[in-house]
Amino acid sequence: MKKNDIFEIEITGITDEGDGVGRAEGMAVFVPYALVGETVRVTIVKVLKNYAVGKLFEVTTPSPSRIKAECPYFYKCGGCRFWHTDYETELEYKRQKVEDCLRRIGGFDVTVPKTLGAKETRGYRNKGQFPVSSDGIGIYAKHSHRVIDIDGCIIQDRTNPEVIGCVRDWMAEFDIPPYDEETGKGCIRHIYTRSGDSGKLVCIVTNCEKIPHAEELVKALRERVDGVSGVLQNLNNKKTNVVLGTRFRTLWGEDFVTDTLGECKFRISPLSFYQVNKAQTEVLYNQAADFAQLSDGEVVWDLYCGIGTIGQFMASRAKKIVGIEVVPQAIENAKENAKLNGIENAEYHCGTAEELAPKLKGEKPDVVILDPPRKGCDESLLKTVAKTETKRIVYVSCKPSTLARDLKLLATLGYELKSVQPVDLFPRTHHVECVALLTQI
Ligand code: SAH
Repeated sequence: MKKNDIFEIEITGITDEGDGVGRAEGMAVFVPYALVGETVRVTIVKVLKNYAVGKLFEVTTPSPSRIKAECPYFYKCGGCRFWHTDYETELEYKRQKVEDCLRRIGGFDVTVPKTLGAKETRGYRNKGQFPVSSDGIGIYAKHSHRVIDIDGCIIQDRTNPEVIGCVRDWMAEFDIPPYDEETGKGCIRHIYTRSGDSGKLVCIVTNCEKIPHAEELVKALRERVDGVSGVLQNLNNKKTNVVLGTRFRTLWGEDFVTDTLGECKFRISPLSFYQVNKAQTEVLYNQAADFAQLSDGEVVWDLYCGIGTIGQFMASRAKKIVGIEVVPQAIENAKENAKLNGIENAEYHCGTAEELAPKLKGEKPDVVILDPPRKGCDESLLKTVAKTETKRIVYVSCKPSTLARDLKLLATLGYELKSVQPVDLFPRTHHVECVALLTQI
C-alpha cells in the first residue's frame, strides 16, 4: 500500500478519536468522518507501520445513522467528531468505547449500560477559548495551529458570537495587532470566556502588558453582549500552547462567575477547573452521589476536588469532607464555596493527592472520590487509598483508558468493580465522562 492508492473499504469499527476503521490489503485504515457499517472510497494519505490513513471522497453505502452536519466548520475543525451521525449512534459509540477499554485494558468482563445522553447538544459549553491571529478569530484547524475565522461555535454558549464580533470590530477599528506565534510579536492571543448563572466573564489573553483602547472594548462588550459581568486581561507573554498565563488584571466588573448545581452555589475563578456542561454535570454528580450511598456518618475524601463541587454536592449527608487539589486558586474557591453553601464539615488541602493523602491525619475515609485529569491517578495514590480500607471508591473519569488501567490496579488491591456509568458531558466530540463504583471485597 502506498500514498495516493485508492480503495473501497467497509468500515467495521471506530478509533478512540471517532475515526472509522476498515481494512485494505490486510492493513487497518483509519478514515475520518466514516461511520460503522458504511462502504466508502478513500485515497490513502499516510502509510505507517501498523495502520494507514485514508481520506474519504465518496460514501458508496451510507449508514442509516448518517446525517448532514449542522456545523459549517465540522470538516475542518479539530473540536467535534460526531456532527455527521444521529445522537443515539454517538451515545452508543461512547458506551462501546468505555466497555472496550474496560475489557481490553482492565480485563473486566462487564456490560456497560447506555450512555446518559444530554437533552441539549448545542450551546452547552460554558468555557470558550478562541485563538486570535492574523487569519482571524476562531478555532484551530484539525491537527494544526492554523486559525480558521468563525462567526461562532455551535456547542458554545450562545452569546459567544457577539463576543467574537466585538473583539473583531474593536481590533479593526483601533488597529490592534494580533499575536504572531512565529515571531512572538503582536498583542491579542486568545479570547477566553466562562459563563455561569451569575453572568459571563470575558478574558482577553495578551502578549502585551497594556491593552491599547481597553475602555472602548469594555464598553462594546457591555453594550453588545448579554450578561457580561466581568472583563479581564490575562497576561501570557511566553512561547507556549498553554492558553492562560498566571497574571490577571480586572478591566471591569467581577473576576469570577457563580454557577448553581443542585442545591449548591459555586464560585469559579478563571484558572480553576469547572465542568463545561452544567446540565450534564448535575447528571454526573447525582450518579456519583448515588454510588457514594451516604447515609449520614461517613467521612468522605474528595480527591482532585477542584473548587469543591462533588464533595459539597453530597456534603449534607456526610460527617466530614476532606478535599485535596493542586491548583491554589481552586482550593481558595473550594473554601469560599463551602462558606457560600453553609458547609462547616469540609476541609481543604492544597497539593498533589499522591503527596498529601498519605499524610492526612484523623479518621479514615468511608468513601473516597477520585476525579483525576486525563492521565488518571498516580499508582502510589491508589495504594494509599486501598490502604485506608475505605468501603467504597467512586471514580469519576474523563478518559476510559486510564480509568480501566487504574481500576485494574484497584482490583488487585482488594476492590471490586460494581458499576460503571458513562455520561455524555461533551456531545458531538469524541470525549466521554464515566463514573465507576468499587467496593471493598
Ligand atoms: N472534582 C472537580 C475537578 C476535577 S478535574 C470537579 O468535578 O469539578 C481534575 C482536578 O485535578 C483539576 O482541578 C486539577 O487541577 C487537579 N489535579 C491535577 N493533578 C492533581 C494531583 N496530582 N493532585 C491533586 N489534584 C490534581
